[in-house]
Amino acid sequence: MDTLHALLGRIQSKLSFVQVLPINWKLYVQSFSWGVTLFESYLLLRQYPLYSKTSPPPILEKYFEKDTFEKSQKYGQDKAKFSLFSGLYRQVVDSVMVQFGAYAWSWEIAGRILSRFGYGPGYEIPQSILFSAVLFFISSIPSIPLSVYQTFVLEEKHGFNKTSPKLFVADMVKGWAVGFAIGAPFLAAFLKIFKWAGDRFVPWLMGFLLAFQMSMVVLYPTVIQPLFNKLSPLPEGALRGRIESMASKLKFPLKHLYEIDGSKRSSHSNAYFFGLPWSKHIVIFDTLIKESPPEDIEAVLAHELGHWYYVHPTKLLLISQAHIFTILSLFPAFLHAPPLLRSFDFSERVSQNPPTVVAFLLFQMILTPLEAVVGIGLNFISRQFEWQADRFATELPAKLLTDNAAGKLQLDEAGKKEVEDMADMGERLKRSLITLHVKNLSTVWVDWLYSAYHHSHPTLMERLKAIEALQKNVPVFTADAGKKEL
Ligand SMILES: [Zn+2]
Repeated sequence: MDTLHALLGRIQSKLSFVQVLPINWKLYVQSFSWGVTLFESYLLLRQYPLYSKTSPPPILEKYFEKDTFEKSQKYGQDKAKFSLFSGLYRQVVDSVMVQFGAYAWSWEIAGRILSRFGYGPGYEIPQSILFSAVLFFISSIPSIPLSVYQTFVLEEKHGFNKTSPKLFVADMVKGWAVGFAIGAPFLAAFLKIFKWAGDRFVPWLMGFLLAFQMSMVVLYPTVIQPLFNKLSPLPEGALRGRIESMASKLKFPLKHLYEIDGSKRSSHSNAYFFGLPWSKHIVIFDTLIKESPPEDIEAVLAHELGHWYYVHPTKLLLISQAHIFTILSLFPAFLHAPPLLRSFDFSERVSQNPPTVVAFLLFQMILTPLEAVVGIGLNFISRQFEWQADRFATELPAKLLTDNAAGKLQLDEAGKKEVEDMADMGERLKRSLITLHVKNLSTVWVDWLYSAYHHSHPTLMERLKAIEALQKNVPVFTADAGKKEL
């Protein structure tokens, strides 16, 4: 612990200039946030001409009907135009808020509301919660027209929207209520830890955040998601049988297998798993079940189980802990920095004794450029994980037979037969990826820089090529292939 605090102390003293120098933070934040937005616009402009191509890449030609390809190009084009506009629009809103002191104003308003109820400026935590709520509303209300347009014009036009105006409003209100129900106590606890631990808050806060993340893993699917969607057990049948038997061969601790009514809102489809290490749940979208045969969905699930096999979620959690640690260790220097608040139009009285929530918010705005770089790094790692999971699915039958031959797995005759029937897993995975792409009208032509910045998954083309390369190495299966492997 002492080494940790010595290290944190050194970082803090290196950054101590923040507490005295009158740096123009507002100008800095404006320049960088505009820089990031303009860069993102530039990426869209690079990507845009690709939507004018009239045919898919040669290896995809046989999967796309001409008509479907044209639709996907048109959808991509409309989405890109919308992203360009909404990115610039949001930046203008944020920029105006920063320029005209919306943060300082929100803090004053929160204080005034509290004082009406007889609470003075000493009640920092209630004021912080109110401040966050005010700020949330003034920054999100201008975005409502954007999401109305996106749902009821853009998605509607291309046949994806299933949301009714009533459901849209209900979702929004529910989202706010859930956000407040979780956000307010979270913020209160977060600020309490700062007050209680003083300058030694880093390890305590990290422990708290980790506990929070873990409890969300349990609460999200059991309490929050059912508020929006209906999860029902996947009915007995070919699909359920396949998934259960694959899970048991891999010793995946499958507790529940659900079907989710994703089609209630949108026709986009997917599948995922979640849960604690000893009890996992798999969720499959009803749209995916409708669009692909059971054997192809099995391949999608084999990919998902690859993520589990290689412990990807835990690795991502550790990376996010390292990220949080970096942010928190830089923060103390900004916690008691009057020039920072003055630069954002806070009154002398508030600046002299900065409220933690305000300092943290401004600090996060300063980190914008750093966060953009971190985002690129995370996407890069996530893409590596996707390759790995594809590889796992493609090589799964070979792996199971090897495990069986090595005695790690006891397959009976029926089990062996099942594994042998998996020999075309690579083919099925390719087919299901293509189906997902075709049904979702996803873009097949992608600019490399655009993809490097935005995509957490490799492009369809990259994945198909990689799976094909792997398929060349998979041995042809015969009845006793497992023995031959050794
Ligand atoms: Zn994946």
